[in-house]
Amino acid sequence: LFVVFEGGDGAGKSTQVRLLADWLAQQGREVVSTFEPGGTALGKDIRQVLLHGDHVDARAEALLFAADRAHHIETLVRPALKRGAVVVQDRYLDSSVAYQGAGRELDAAEVRGLSLWATRDLLPDLTVLLDVDPVVAQGRRQRESDRLEREGEDFQRRVREHFRALAAAEPERYLVLDATEPPEVIAAAVRDRLAGLVRT
Ligand code: C5P
Repeated sequence: LFVVFEGGDGAGKSTQVRLLADWLAQQGREVVSTFEPGGTALGKDIRQVLLHGDHVDARAEALLFAADRAHHIETLVRPALKRGAVVVQDRYLDSSVAYQGAGRELDAAEVRGLSLWATRDLLPDLTVLLDVDPVVAQGRRQRESDRLEREGEDFQRRVREHFRALAAAEPERYLVLDATEPPEVIAAAVRDRLAGLVRT
């Protein structure tokens, strides 16, 4: 079972990953909680370049995110899924579609295709979109996100709208939740949706 949290910066994804992973572990499941970019040793180097390096051209940026993702999925996520673990992940391919596609204004379908190639078509069983206005989320952003904050409000708004459109296009794979709700309320809604999937 592969569960992903998506959303803008400061939406509370890492908190929800932790709450869900703790709950699944209490249910006796093996859980691997992980994140992109940077969930592997190679990924940490790529993350460093992306977030703290000099300006990276938009296509180069898309390829670096895809490289991080390919390595992460192949070396960590697929093996975990194969042995029956639940993988709970902070960000996945829809982040690239939203940030590099809508945000950077590359072709969203091409960015999606690149990620599907990188991951050999691995899609999550469930993607939880923590939806929040980027200005409201601003206060919760990590200092490390400064680089993306410099992209400004228009960029963040395009990202949000694209996430919402992706969710609307694939309701069976998505659960959209209001990220301004208390964390425990959000976590309970995620558990409700997962209840059917976890038993299988
Ligand atoms: O989620 P996290 O804080 O680890 O992401 C680090 C930064 O990279 C954030 O500012 C996020 O907006 C950005 N990002 C991106 N494209 C992605 C994934 C993350 O621009 N595909």
